[in-house]
Amino acid sequence: MNIDTTGIEYIVKKVMAEIDCAEESGRTLKDGELGVFNDMQNAIDAAYIAQKSYMRQTLAFRSKLIAAMRAEMLKKENMETICHMAVEETGMGNYEHKLIKHQLAINKTPGVEDLVAEAWTGDNGLTLNEQSPFGVIGASTPSTNPSETVINNSIGMLAGGNTVVFAPHPSAKQTNALCVKLLNKAILEAGGPENLIVTTANPTLESANLVFSSDKITMLCATGGPGVVKAVLQSGKKGIGAGAGNPPALVDETADIEKAAKDIVDGCCFDNNLPCIAEKEVVVVDQVADYLIFNMKKNGAYELKDAKKIEELAELVYPNGRLSRDYVGRDAITILKGIGIEVDSSVRVVMMETSKDHIFAVEELMMPILPIVRVKDIEEGIEVAVNLEHGNRHTAIMHSTNVNNLSEMAKRVQCTIFVKNAPSYAGIGVGGEGYTTFTIAGPTGEGLTSAKTFTRKRRCTLVGGFDIK
Ligand code: NAD
Repeated sequence: MNIDTTGIEYIVKKVMAEIDCAEESGRTLKDGELGVFNDMQNAIDAAYIAQKSYMRQTLAFRSKLIAAMRAEMLKKENMETICHMAVEETGMGNYEHKLIKHQLAINKTPGVEDLVAEAWTGDNGLTLNEQSPFGVIGASTPSTNPSETVINNSIGMLAGGNTVVFAPHPSAKQTNALCVKLLNKAILEAGGPENLIVTTANPTLESANLVFSSDKITMLCATGGPGVVKAVLQSGKKGIGAGAGNPPALVDETADIEKAAKDIVDGCCFDNNLPCIAEKEVVVVDQVADYLIFNMKKNGAYELKDAKKIEELAELVYPNGRLSRDYVGRDAITILKGIGIEVDSSVRVVMMETSKDHIFAVEELMMPILPIVRVKDIEEGIEVAVNLEHGNRHTAIMHSTNVNNLSEMAKRVQCTIFVKNAPSYAGIGVGGEGYTTFTIAGPTGEGLTSAKTFTRKRRCTLVGGFDIK
């Protein structure tokens, strides 16, 4: 899709005007209207009150609200506005790919159907396990998927009967606020209550800490890097930690190399490598390494061969041992320009051969820089790939037709998502089977979160009294 700046401004203004004017034209929203509060404490209080009555509503009512939320977010102008806004506000990512991520979050996040009850009947009567809400959930969201996570978490958490307080990344506060407003607009128009989804217009570390320490919040769900996952685990509350990854793509000599090369480039450049599941380094058996590199070049990878240029690039994106946010989520053309190399628009990934200890292989960069690490055989390949994953237990990708090699890697790497013979994004439902999530809980073990993750099992036992056996 080609849309110029004037077109973008027009759509953004139109959607903002619709929301800001609410029903009466010219009226701006009151504090807290459509779920966005100036003060985080007021947001928490509102979600707490709302949850008391929301948990008494029927599953059918929850489903109706979720259907309305999906429909609102799927509207073309809403989706285009949010995706443009996310790219502009954060300075990261790729608009076209953000559209795909939004459609995924809207269409493939499970709703109330995910809450399956269990029953046991016998001579002693009937016992039921049902999924009950936690209450109010505090959810931190990353700058890398600022609105996708809000949509995905909101559907799952509301399906579970909870209300949610979002603590967004400050660099994505406008995108977060717009997303929360649109979701609330849909809920209200469908006959639902206020404040099922709330947030603050002014997020800071302090306002996030207020959420983490509030007595009114019973569950925390952290989607982000190591700092926020640690904060959640130390909170003393039930915590879901969805943390960082450094997914290796391992290629052995039995793989379909031409397909593997295309899949790896496609996965690596998806949303400029922002997704935590995206290919961050390639480990390839020497026998097929040259042919893989040759085919990656045919699919939009630019190979940096000059050792000096590789180190210049490392200094640019990782100066003084710290990741430069200036290059996170930028495209390959911009990154190469930073070291004085001009390329055409066919270039999607910057690739280079490195050792397994190079900063590009070891660190999660979140930009389309793809180091290639050569290994002598599959045994060494598995060892190197497992080490580079750092025990995050997040995502690994493998290209192979040898079932034994695939099984060995899966067993050793023990990742939440293991993608075989496809781009990484197949693991969250783009071109792969299964539901989606934007909160992949490796550290705390819930895996690909969904509505049932946000509930607790309650057992009800009836002894005798009813029997049709
Ligand atoms: P980030 O850790 O900087 O921020 C994430 C969220 O946590 C933000 O809302 C931020 O304000 C908050 N936060 C950070 N430190 C905090 C602290 N000490 N106390 C309270 N809140 C805190 O991450 P980011 O750069 O926005 O996102 C990228 C990171 O998130 C990457 O590491 C990526 O792998 C990870 N991620 C993981 C998943 C997953 O499902 N596992 C999904 C998306 C992103």
